[in-house]
Amino acid sequence: MTSTTVSVVGSTGSVGTQTLDVVADDADSYRIIALAAGRSVEQLAEQAKLVEPELVVVADQSLEGELRAAVPDSIEVASGEEGMVECARRADVTVNGVVGFAGLPVTLETLNAGKRLALANKESLIAAGPVVQTARATPGAEIVPVDSEHAAIHQCLRANDVRERVSRIQLTASGGPFRGRAAAELASVTIDEALAHPTWAMGPKITIDSSTLMNKGLEVIEANELFGKPAGEHGFGIELDEIDVVVHPQSIVHSMVTYSDGSTIAQLSMPNMRLPIAYALAFPDRFPVPYGPIDWATVGSLDFETPDREAFPCLDLAFEAARIGGTAPAWLSAANEVAVDAFLDGRIAWVDIARINEATLSSHDGGTGSTLADVLEGDRAARIKAAEVLATKETA
Ligand code: MG
Repeated sequence: MTSTTVSVVGSTGSVGTQTLDVVADDADSYRIIALAAGRSVEQLAEQAKLVEPELVVVADQSLEGELRAAVPDSIEVASGEEGMVECARRADVTVNGVVGFAGLPVTLETLNAGKRLALANKESLIAAGPVVQTARATPGAEIVPVDSEHAAIHQCLRANDVRERVSRIQLTASGGPFRGRAAAELASVTIDEALAHPTWAMGPKITIDSSTLMNKGLEVIEANELFGKPAGEHGFGIELDEIDVVVHPQSIVHSMVTYSDGSTIAQLSMPNMRLPIAYALAFPDRFPVPYGPIDWATVGSLDFETPDREAFPCLDLAFEAARIGGTAPAWLSAANEVAVDAFLDGRIAWVDIARINEATLSSHDGGTGSTLADVLEGDRAARIKAAEVLATKETA
């Protein structure tokens, strides 16, 4: 049997390292042929020695020489965006685990090459929705989401053949570390508190996004792009206002789909990112190794509640951005990257993240985002605007 070839872009991050673990668990079926990382040359070189890919890439071009010196001569070395997109061209499946907007070229190149995109980089889909949809129409191209909620929905949608009979999507949210706190109690929370996620171990950017519910908001936009209107090859006819967010603190129900007859189908497992990674690699088959199967003797109760939209205004900002459409989601996502960076640097308070996002989104210039140039310009303009707002919030 020939093995499926895999490129891992963002290989030193949380999703990237777990992808290497998953592939190692079924090494007869999968072979990693390319690894790419942003700047972590030492860790990337370690991975390259272990995995022996054909190609290894560092995004920061100034580090190419250092990388070349650190890996065996038999491995091809490249850098920059050109190197990143080369990873996307040559494998059957590209896992995009890049953090933030920087993941967009890999998303587009994988789809334009007519390959499978195992998508963990939600920002590329959110920021460049219309452009990604065009690339997705390439024969052979497909997106299998690695985001746990969307992987769950992808699975729940397979329970029914009639796309028009899907009536609602319920995205579950853990609620993050500040669940249950009122708006007034959130003014003085610290970076460490925001980084202490109750159920998922993830990178810092997404962990902060979970604490503000921005992550869930971005996932609403992501779900709208992945499964929304029109019902067709990709879409399931879901309208934006048919996407619900349900807080579920145990993170065992990863999301649900409700059908026209009132039946709700859910996907359950213990929180473990290796499962959605393995699902995206194996689809439409199932991975032979279990990740996070439920132990029913210890699982206890499953709780559900509605989100506090006043304490976590980022959630409604995301619905608003999706309703505006065009580059509005790109603006929101870019503003959020700027704000989260500043928060992690200790330059602003946690509550300022939502304020910066709101002020930036309210300045959206009506851009349609129908071309890549529009999307890049939208991202640039939003970052300038967000930096202006940020300057008024920074603590001395
Ligand atoms: Mg998620």
